[in-house]
Amino acid sequence: MDHYKHIGNDGKVIPLPVGKVVCVGRNYLKHIQELNNEVPSEPLLFMKPATALCPLHQPIVIPKDKGPCHNELEVAVLIKETLTQASIKDTKEAIWGLGLGLDLTLRDVQSKLKAKGQPWERAKAFDHSCPVSQFIEKQHVPDYTNLAFSLMVGGDIRQQGNTQHMMYSIIELIVEISNHFTLVAGDIVMTGTPEGVGPLFAEDHLEVTLDNHFAVRTFVV
Ligand code: ZN
Repeated sequence: MDHYKHIGNDGKVIPLPVGKVVCVGRNYLKHIQELNNEVPSEPLLFMKPATALCPLHQPIVIPKDKGPCHNELEVAVLIKETLTQASIKDTKEAIWGLGLGLDLTLRDVQSKLKAKGQPWERAKAFDHSCPVSQFIEKQHVPDYTNLAFSLMVGGDIRQQGNTQHMMYSIIELIVEISNHFTLVAGDIVMTGTPEGVGPLFAEDHLEVTLDNHFAVRTFVV
């Protein structure tokens, strides 16, 4: 598999390094309800290392013998400038653009870790646990608060989200993250999944769409 690089909607490599991925859990009420989780009083944050990244259009390799691996389709934000304790204005300026990512999750592994009060990395930070699409430059995305996105598995709708249903908006999330972890050029922020998570299986054909911007077809091996 090729080494991961950020790709623009024109197919060209975006000249930014590849950094960490900061993820948000429990940002859509219906997803919180489907897993019987508590509504958080502040954004739930975790990270994936750069080794989790891989291109979404290439075959998705899910781990064997570790129980169900769930899809979590999320809007992904590519950062182009350093953000520490950032203002809303700085945050808006520091966004390169938006795309989609899968926060692949070993659900049984995660449930056991949660029950023991242990961190989630074994369930969420494994190699290639974060396939991401191309990114649309932000000037082509006038409104981050009303972006529709969807995942089809085997021709059936599995997830259908809209950023208007987020509990914390994209800008609010990045401001909050920058109060805890400095974001640097090339980092990606994953903004949480809507409802419709479920297991993926080898040979599943997937199609993800980001509003009227793009559709990506891929499959699971
Ligand atoms: Zn997620």
